[in-house]
Amino acid sequence: MDVSHLFNELNETQREAVSAGPGPLLVLAGAGSGKTRVLTHRVAWLVQALSVSPLSILAVTFTNKAANEMRGRIEQMLGYPVRGMWMGTFHGLSHRLLRTHWQEAGLKQSFDILDSDDQLRVIRRVLKDLDLDEGYWPPRQVQWFINGHKEEGRRTEHLPQQHDVQQVQMQRVYKAYEEACRRFGVVDFGELLLRAFELLQNHEPLREHYQRRFQHVLVDEFQDTNSIQYRWLNVLAEAHNNIVAVGDDDQSIYGWRGARVENILRFESDYPGTRVVRLEQNYRSTSMILNAANAVIDHNQSRLGKKLWTDGEAGEKIKLYTAFNEVDEARFVVDRAQAWVGTGQPRQSIAILYRSNAQSRVFEEILLDMGIPYRVYGGLRFFERSEIKDALAYLRLLADRESDPAFERVVNVPSRGIGNRTLDAIRGHARHSEQSLWAAGLSLCTGGGLSARATTAVTQFMQLIDELDRKSAHLSLSERTNVVIRRSGLIEHFRKEKGEKGEARIENLEELVNAAGNFNHDADEGVDELLSFLSHAALEAGEGQAEDWEDCVQLMSLHSAKGLEFPLVFLCGLEEGLFPHQRSLQEPGRLEEERRLCYVGMTRAMRSLYVTYAESRRLHGRDLYTSPSRFLREIPSELVEEVRSAVLTRPLPAMLANQSPVGSGSAAMKLGARVRHAKFGDGMVLNLEGQGGHARVQVNFERAGSKWLVLAYANLETI
Ligand code: ATP
Ligand code: MG
Repeated sequence: MDVSHLFNELNETQREAVSAGPGPLLVLAGAGSGKTRVLTHRVAWLVQALSVSPLSILAVTFTNKAANEMRGRIEQMLGYPVRGMWMGTFHGLSHRLLRTHWQEAGLKQSFDILDSDDQLRVIRRVLKDLDLDEGYWPPRQVQWFINGHKEEGRRTEHLPQQHDVQQVQMQRVYKAYEEACRRFGVVDFGELLLRAFELLQNHEPLREHYQRRFQHVLVDEFQDTNSIQYRWLNVLAEAHNNIVAVGDDDQSIYGWRGARVENILRFESDYPGTRVVRLEQNYRSTSMILNAANAVIDHNQSRLGKKLWTDGEAGEKIKLYTAFNEVDEARFVVDRAQAWVGTGQPRQSIAILYRSNAQSRVFEEILLDMGIPYRVYGGLRFFERSEIKDALAYLRLLADRESDPAFERVVNVPSRGIGNRTLDAIRGHARHSEQSLWAAGLSLCTGGGLSARATTAVTQFMQLIDELDRKSAHLSLSERTNVVIRRSGLIEHFRKEKGEKGEARIENLEELVNAAGNFNHDADEGVDELLSFLSHAALEAGEGQAEDWEDCVQLMSLHSAKGLEFPLVFLCGLEEGLFPHQRSLQEPGRLEEERRLCYVGMTRAMRSLYVTYAESRRLHGRDLYTSPSRFLREIPSELVEEVRSAVLTRPLPAMLANQSPVGSGSAAMKLGARVRHAKFGDGMVLNLEGQGGHARVQVNFERAGSKWLVLAYANLETI
């Protein structure tokens, strides 16, 4: 087969990597140098030039979005869909292994995946069972302890004997937690990886089978593998050593979750004879952007060190905007985004990036307000919303009555008068008799272990589930979901929750029916469709929130932006304490990780990069006065251009044009004045601050409650 098309768009070094013979290969190179391109071309090359079957290739990366893009690129090159190829995230592929080999893995067939919230709930329950006070044993700390050990592959029996009371107790909790998960048949995220690894490690026939099957193992974003992921790869590759690892030490951003950049250094000694390829030409960004990013990362001490160059155009300077507050920042960004779209560019060429997920809300509000479609990756995503989790819990119970987390979640949602006392009795009985909550509930109801009222309520709940199951079993997944959200009483329940919130919840539930309708079951052949949908919901945690086909602005945290690229990037909230994050300020190691995160953010930009910060920001209900991030100072000033808000080029409202401080001279805008806002309605001015274009007012609206508004944008009318 003629494979010259695969080489046409590669430089000499990339070609060398793509067509390297068998054996270990490490591609170590900076952002935008074509690492992912090498990986995808290598897959296409194996299939087309060497006639390797797609079934014998395993390719892994870190986010679902990156995995989808990888699949897309490969299918485009090959010209046909590659169904049987194992390509996905570590979690996704581990899940697939465990679903297929649940018995060998010691799981029940319908095992459920716990997300981080569910995990906390189980931990709380365990603490209660052990009679430990949450005040002394904060569940989050316990979660940290457990996940940390799992990331290192340590089960309780591997932990060293401790004498410290605190440590002894923690280990006890870990053990009880493992026990509880086993009893409930649930698996947390860390467990997915660890158990899949143990499955391969401990079952020789299985291990040999998969080693024979996956003749080629490829991993992108290798710098972010943690210890258990690395071992997971090794166990698959050790039989043949055909492993390609691709990464960049400067983009290691998951140290806080146990990622080990040292894996890059270990690789060469773990795989003797490794061929190392370095790529130095950047194809993604203008030289302005690249130089700025290089200058920032240069401030890190611990790096392998490399310089990237580009022969692309110089491009525009990095644009810096100083916002008055977070609302002003979002306004500015959305304004510029709109102007960009106005020049004929698609919305999806724009990314708004931030350090913490909570920052997305203000952007979302303004985008919504202006009717601009957008999509949020990460954060509180569709499948993480509480009403969606309620509906999924019902579906889960249809598939598996024994699912305790699902039972707990909806036994009294909507309210059926099943109180805590009743639940405690069921829980106690379940623990005592080592059964599921469902089974315990059943035996208490039939054996007269509950009051008459409780018995009726619990029985009705169980009958409802059985009936839903019976009536919907023959339906399609989406019809089934539809029946469940209606007959369970959920829709009715949220209808009673007045106002926009309740409405939004109902819309979300209806959206779930659509999501079920669009669900593509192919990927998990041989697994029950409903089970496969439920796992998809837990794993993807809502990356399908906005319509896939719709052209929309992309919002995401810096962590989720890894590996992606966008013509226009806004890097927002560059303030000390926010980015770099407060927690990192004391530890040099953490600070360097924040800087790498900044490097990742900047290098996502292809043509245009904006950096913004706000002089004051409302965080956790308080207004903080912030100072600009040190990373801003690390960008050479000759590469930066300060921009002013578009508001200054618009005619200013009269009262701002004469620059009177709002708080004093303005007769129109006095404390206590009655004002009208187009969206929020009528209200009273409670507070005034700032001057000129930065003036803000706090208004207590009769319908919408109290809000801070930037006067220049609010268009308030005095009444
Ligand atoms: P990151 O470190 O951010 O993951 P990367 O090293 O994986 O980046 P790619 O995403 O593979 O880089 O490539 C960056 C951009 O450069 C992509 O748009 C890619 O198509 C383009 N590119 C890579 N190599 C070449 C080449 N030889 N000729 C033209 N374009 C290229
Ligand atoms: Mg990449």
